[in-house]
Amino acid sequence: MTNVMLSASNILNGFKLAGREFHPDSTVIDVDGIKIGDGSLVIMAGPCAVESRAQLLETAALIQASGAQFLRGGAFKPRTSPYSFQGLKHKGLQYLAEAREATGLKIITEVTEADLVDDVLACTDILQIGARNMQNFHLLQAVGRSDKPVMLKRGMSATIDEWLYAAEYILNEGNSRVILCERGIRTFEDYTRNTLDLSAVAAVKQLSHLPVIVDPSHSTGRWELVAAMSKASIAAGADGLIIEVHPDPMKARCDGPQSLNPDNYRNLMSDLLKLSAFIRTELH
Ligand code: PEP
Ligand code: MN
Repeated sequence: MTNVMLSASNILNGFKLAGREFHPDSTVIDVDGIKIGDGSLVIMAGPCAVESRAQLLETAALIQASGAQFLRGGAFKPRTSPYSFQGLKHKGLQYLAEAREATGLKIITEVTEADLVDDVLACTDILQIGARNMQNFHLLQAVGRSDKPVMLKRGMSATIDEWLYAAEYILNEGNSRVILCERGIRTFEDYTRNTLDLSAVAAVKQLSHLPVIVDPSHSTGRWELVAAMSKASIAAGADGLIIEVHPDPMKARCDGPQSLNPDNYRNLMSDLLKLSAFIRTELH
């Protein structure tokens, strides 16, 4: 095959919408005035799961005071075991909407099935597709038909190609506001819950114009590693972070061991704001 034929077939089979080939400039996603991908640091923080009204409002207040723009929290939780807490579902969505009203923070929360997209859309600013659903193509098409941004988490065993093809499914339905999220992949190492693939952050920033967020919580599974991996992610070129924070991690119903407590979250945010300012002014 000649080089010309090779490159033609790459374009035919490739990332027509997610790739930089036809879209060389980085995409900046505007969520009601908050820009993702413009060089500023975007922070999404909050509990793994919405557990109660009080827990969510307390977390919202504390992350807002430290400088986050988005409150995260799952209302629909895809859990490995059917016996684990599955989320507060619609009640959880209602608490998220209440927290948005009370604080002005934007909301990001997961949608787990196509039939729930409309309900989740009413209470969120960004739709999250979880790692377990990265190749749920029917769900990807459903969120692709919505008018809100979608954050697509990388599947735990997905290659970079598979991840970008999943993004194509959303873009191909007409939704151009897709954010990629590296959340760690499964490797032989089991000291950490997953292995944070920082090289994928750099690779995807080269291959694609879409913004990239890193999840240092699910990629490590250990709160004591979250600060170091957050800083490394910013240095590697991530546009922001999604971090699990809980007012009392020991009492969390989900992912307590990887959740930062309020003091650790405040300290991390103070470091991250300095690091981000340094990178912006001195390195770019
Ligand atoms: C989450 O962010 O709450 C979550 C379930 O993460 P992941 O889909 O990456 O496992
Ligand atoms: Mn979690």
